[in-house]
Amino acid sequence: FNGKHITVAGLGVSGVSAARALAGLGARVTVVDGGDGAALRERARPASATTSRSGWATRKPSPEGSDLVVTSPGWRPDSPLFAAAAAAGVDVVGDVEIAWRIRGEGAPPWLAVTGTNGKTTTVRMLASILEAAGLRTAAVGNIGTPIVDVVLSQEPYDVLAVELSSYQLHWAPSVRAHSAAVLNLAPDHLDWHGSMAAYAADKGRIYEGNQVACVYNTADARTEQLVRDADVEEGCRAVGFTLGAPGLSELGVVDGILVDRAFVADRQRNAQELAEVSDIASSPGKPTAPHNIANALAAAALARAFGVEPKAVRDGLRAFRPDAHRIAHVADVAGVAYVDDSKATNTHAAEASLASYESVVWIAGGLAKGATFDDLVARSAKRLRGAVLIGADRALIKEALARHAPDVPVVDLDRTDTGAMTEAVREAAALAGEGDTVLMAPACASMDMFTNYGERGEAFAAAVRELAAGRTTQE
Ligand code: ADP
Repeated sequence: FNGKHITVAGLGVSGVSAARALAGLGARVTVVDGGDGAALRERARPASATTSRSGWATRKPSPEGSDLVVTSPGWRPDSPLFAAAAAAGVDVVGDVEIAWRIRGEGAPPWLAVTGTNGKTTTVRMLASILEAAGLRTAAVGNIGTPIVDVVLSQEPYDVLAVELSSYQLHWAPSVRAHSAAVLNLAPDHLDWHGSMAAYAADKGRIYEGNQVACVYNTADARTEQLVRDADVEEGCRAVGFTLGAPGLSELGVVDGILVDRAFVADRQRNAQELAEVSDIASSPGKPTAPHNIANALAAAALARAFGVEPKAVRDGLRAFRPDAHRIAHVADVAGVAYVDDSKATNTHAAEASLASYESVVWIAGGLAKGATFDDLVARSAKRLRGAVLIGADRALIKEALARHAPDVPVVDLDRTDTGAMTEAVREAAALAGEGDTVLMAPACASMDMFTNYGERGEAFAAAVRELAAGRTTQE
């Protein structure tokens, strides 16, 4: 990159990281961003880059004079800048591609994870297992730590646990993982990708050139199809994971035990026990959600492909702690469990979340992002004891409830202010009976009412604590 002129589009976390790295490698970097202002210029400064003028990106951006354009997830692939780059024969790539190209001799291999839901959880589980095996590793990529920073650091990693979004995969044509997993595929971000087929194809890129294993979900035929379509290194194996008993070359579950039938070293045996389902650390004393068993199996498959011993899989799963707002048990109040799954920002995630409980009062709503709720509600109806709806697009969920769960009592909170969550929790408490779970798994994005899903989760937890305090006072 030395001496090259590179345009970096978008000054988010990954854009800043890429700009800084490229400038450090001797490139002349120009950054462009739809916005402008002091804060933005300040962010661009460490890249010793030339900040573009306000609006440059949105007027008629031009890659003229650039040898390469580096883009960020927020920029749609149909942005005029990329059409202009294509016309001018200038390559467009993302920060992950930059990381791949600048990694040095003897760089650590990548174990990569993508999927519509469960990426972060699986990558955390994987990193925990690798650490338990005594390997030097880091959880990087879409999970938050820009991969370019880690590649440029002088840390002697043995292996990286890499979370890749569909956006990142779209712009990372030459990445070749040691092994990779696609956890599941459901419609999401289709406005960005253009179609389900394009979205799946971008996810499938993660398998291209895999060396040892392509891990897929036997319950999701689309993931298996992506393995079939991929061009992999000779000897690379397809390895399935299943919540049932595993077939040959699969990992699965038998009588509450995670069992590996893909990487069995001892030829006398046809299965290797790895861990118990109860080893998957979630909230203490609470049963493990089925989707987290699936995530654990995928993480275990990648670790086993890398040669990790069964004991480290068990120890790593025991040591794993979920990130916040992912089916986090907040409190029990009057025999009702209150669970924060604010990260369930799409219908596929919310369905998995609801399937983890028998009898649920569901707090849902927010920004639907073009989703429909009929399938989710129809498949979850038998678990619903009540629903409390908040947020901009709640009417869509209300209509789906009326169609597929007409007997379920619904409270429609006609407000989108932040305080609505307190009222929602109070209403949910009124609908819930002993043994029920009040589950905030909104199936929607949060930005109509909150800054992000984290703030939404905090509002829920605060409301639950308020409820608990109120009950104690009454008693
Ligand atoms: P991602 O990084 O892909 O957004 P997370 O691990 O952060 O995934 O989980 C996000 C949400 O998706 C969780 O809160 C849960 O509701 C749901 N989820 C997690 N794993 C799965 C899975 N394997 N299948 C379906 N839904 C899942």
